[in-house]
Amino acid sequence: MRLLLAQQSRYKASTSMRNTRATQPIFELSKPGRRATRFPDSDVPVRPIEELLPEHCRATTLPPLPEVTEPDVVRHFTNLSTLNMSVDTHFYPLGSCTMKHNPKRNERLANLPGIANLHPYQPDDTVQGLLQLLHELQDMFAEISGLPAVSLQPAAGAHGELTALMVAAAYFDDIGEKRTKVLAPDSAHGTNPASASMAGFDTVTIKSDSRGLVDLADLRSKLDDQVAVFMITNPSTLGIFDDQVAEIADLVHKEGGLIYLDGANMNAILGIARPGDFGADMMHYNPHKTFSGPHGGGGPGAGPICVTEKLGPYLPSPVVCQRDGRFALDYERAKSIGRVRAFFGNVGVLVRAYCYIRTHGPDGLRRASEQAVLNANYLLSRVKHILPVPHGDRCMHEFVATASELKKTKGISAMDIAKRLLDFGYHAPTVYFPLTVPESMMIEPTESESKETLDAFAEALFRITDEAADLLHEAPHTTPISRPNEVQAARSPMLKWTSV
Ligand SMILES: *Cc1c(COP(=O)(O)O)cnc(C)c1O
Repeated sequence: MRLLLAQQSRYKASTSMRNTRATQPIFELSKPGRRATRFPDSDVPVRPIEELLPEHCRATTLPPLPEVTEPDVVRHFTNLSTLNMSVDTHFYPLGSCTMKHNPKRNERLANLPGIANLHPYQPDDTVQGLLQLLHELQDMFAEISGLPAVSLQPAAGAHGELTALMVAAAYFDDIGEKRTKVLAPDSAHGTNPASASMAGFDTVTIKSDSRGLVDLADLRSKLDDQVAVFMITNPSTLGIFDDQVAEIADLVHKEGGLIYLDGANMNAILGIARPGDFGADMMHYNPHKTFSGPHGGGGPGAGPICVTEKLGPYLPSPVVCQRDGRFALDYERAKSIGRVRAFFGNVGVLVRAYCYIRTHGPDGLRRASEQAVLNANYLLSRVKHILPVPHGDRCMHEFVATASELKKTKGISAMDIAKRLLDFGYHAPTVYFPLTVPESMMIEPTESESKETLDAFAEALFRITDEAADLLHEAPHTTPISRPNEVQAARSPMLKWTSV
């Protein structure tokens, strides 16, 4: 299949090559009188419609539904379902997102009737099994992070950030300190400043130095007793571990501030380093990244947070607790910021995380991280001669390469390469993020890919960067549409069929 696509894609785009049938609206397949079903004549006496409905309630024309056969319907929707790229169909090296394999066993376990059919309003006594599972999961998250107090409520990583910053705000309020600022490095994920702003803080950006690490001089100059929290992503969005983190934590703690660890990149350090041990006071996990939950169409995810003992009382209510040998939801928490999510949190995702952690155990988690780092370094070393990596020869679980040389010499941009990869059957890496690297391509192969897949992907990059710029500017050539307007497609999508 891949070979076929690659061969096809040597030619320029033509409509005949595009898979247009799959995206033709079903309305356009309609032919008057075509039907998918046929009913035998009724032998039950039917009252005429005039007797059943007054005239003004009756339509004068039929609704404009497509008139199609059953094969038309089945093919239409089956073809549509194959247009997306997914971890189940394609290599998906989307940096910062950890698109790793989602073990099917975890799907099956999360769907067991004893879990999937529970009602969120069931009394605690009838959901002891689930509460025990969540309680154990809290303990596992605490152990992996080195931070003892856990809330499973937040619904995504970004929501975890917001929740933790609300916890920090409640803490400072409680100890009578008014702090207004949150610091974040210029390489931070956009959700960091967004969460800070939603939690009522002003964000101050800290520069990165030439190695891509936090610029300590800049940090020192911006650090004062108005700083509530320093948000750091470590390993960072550049795929490097900032080994100054303990020193940074000391500096911030001396001013009375807190360290927030954006845990989106925990996939690189499971069982190797614990945020609580290198100075973090709070962090979130993204179970849909690190612990193999599926990322389904932007959700559902989860964003459990872990905090130090002293911040524990401010966590959202309820938390799962154990009392007299029973498991329960604890609401009696006077200092809590209150609820941030209905019911228990996104239980389906949390159960998958639980299964993943239990399946691997501490050694297995560590091996998964080591393999993720090995795979990323292997790919880095294979492609860096065509796509240089500005920040170092070694990386953690992902790396940020740049196409700026190619852009200068051949007119090939990161966007061209990303689009062209689709013709070769690969989901594109993250492009143009982080903003600190021009023409950036952020590549995260994950631990669940084989050497053969990584080699094939590297070969595709070699071929693409060798192709003519003209061909690349019009890529992809094999998808139903080629280059939608990146902004308009997301901001004003046209999702409705109209006949005119
Ligand atoms: C993914 C990500 C987030 C946000 O997590 P969501 O679960 O998508 O809300 C925050 N920071 C970094 C570095 C990330 O990669």
